[in-house]
Amino acid sequence: MADINLSRITKSFGDYRAVNQVSLDIADGEFVALLGPSGCGKTTLLRLLAGFEEPDGGVISLGGQAVADPANRVMVNPEARNLGIVFQSYALWPHMSVARNVGYPLEVRGLGRAERDARIAKALATVALEPYADRNPTELSGGQRQRVALARCLVMEPRAVLLDEPLANLDVHLRETMQQAFLDFHRRTGATMIYVTHDQAEAMAMADRIAVMDRGRIRQMAAPETLYREPADHMVAGFVGAGAVLPIDDVAIHDAGRCSVRLGDAAIQARICQKVASNSDMRNGRDLGLCLRPEDIWVDDAGTLRGSVEDCVYLGGRFRLMVRLDGDQILPVYATKRARIGEAVGLVISDGWVFDRTED
Ligand code: ADP
Ligand code: MG
Repeated sequence: MADINLSRITKSFGDYRAVNQVSLDIADGEFVALLGPSGCGKTTLLRLLAGFEEPDGGVISLGGQAVADPANRVMVNPEARNLGIVFQSYALWPHMSVARNVGYPLEVRGLGRAERDARIAKALATVALEPYADRNPTELSGGQRQRVALARCLVMEPRAVLLDEPLANLDVHLRETMQQAFLDFHRRTGATMIYVTHDQAEAMAMADRIAVMDRGRIRQMAAPETLYREPADHMVAGFVGAGAVLPIDDVAIHDAGRCSVRLGDAAIQARICQKVASNSDMRNGRDLGLCLRPEDIWVDDAGTLRGSVEDCVYLGGRFRLMVRLDGDQILPVYATKRARIGEAVGLVISDGWVFDRTED
């Protein structure tokens, strides 16, 4: 029903390309996060999808039907696209009750009272706010207000729900509760959801797939585990999850996507991306990166990789060390025991990921 397809979508403001050749395919019922730093074009992409902006080029289709295709003069208006949108600011009317806020889009469209009431009740039930129908938004907490905004979007029975940093205004504790509320909603309804955030932990916790965006382009779209374990490029490796990317220039390829890499006196067994493994020109250059995650690094006196502890922070349950290698690079490492600053340690690395570091 709500397959969403974007093909080579471009949008400029003056000379500035806010969205650059973006292609995305989202399946019916999928929960996709659009993740990227502030200013990378996330909101613009959502507005293009919703119909508030017209692309300069490319095609947007909903359920196989083109809704924006400038080359063929197609531009379907936002109402006819029927996508529900929830913004960071709730934009509720303070003088109207919760029920009236939720039902307002139906009032505007001239639906009768009985039908309105039925749909309001259903939408409020979906976000577990029935007891608050007669309250004013000013009497509600931030999380409850955001649920009212979600109910107001659901009342139109949209084909998909677009959320633009909906939790950015809430405190950390409430954010977690609301993340769970959105996930429960998704599981219950099976709605297609596109969730915009600049918070990688939030994207990881919630989405089936994450599209990582940077300077108007999608760098990689994949399941959270894949993004974390096999980042396609330097930007994704650095933006998603903790770890370090080290430049390397000596890789020996084994079979089945494995290789060994020299780092100081140590030989590290790692996984290698297909593109690099199958391209010997690329391997001979000096633009490969080794992405290391802290879970794969152990403090061990027998380790041939040597370094000294720069920093030690207790995370509750474990410590995070920053270890400076003899080659001067710094690695994050989890440890069960506190370490002294300046202490010499050996490290063992059980896994890594080798990819092309060249930025395009
Ligand atoms: P994000 O949501 O990822 O923070 P935006 O999509 O809001 O990013 O903005 C991307 C870029 O496009 C920014 O540099 C922003 O200043 C610019 N931009 C967005 N909307 C407009 C507009 N209506 N006019 C001019 N520039 C805009
Ligand atoms: Mg934005």
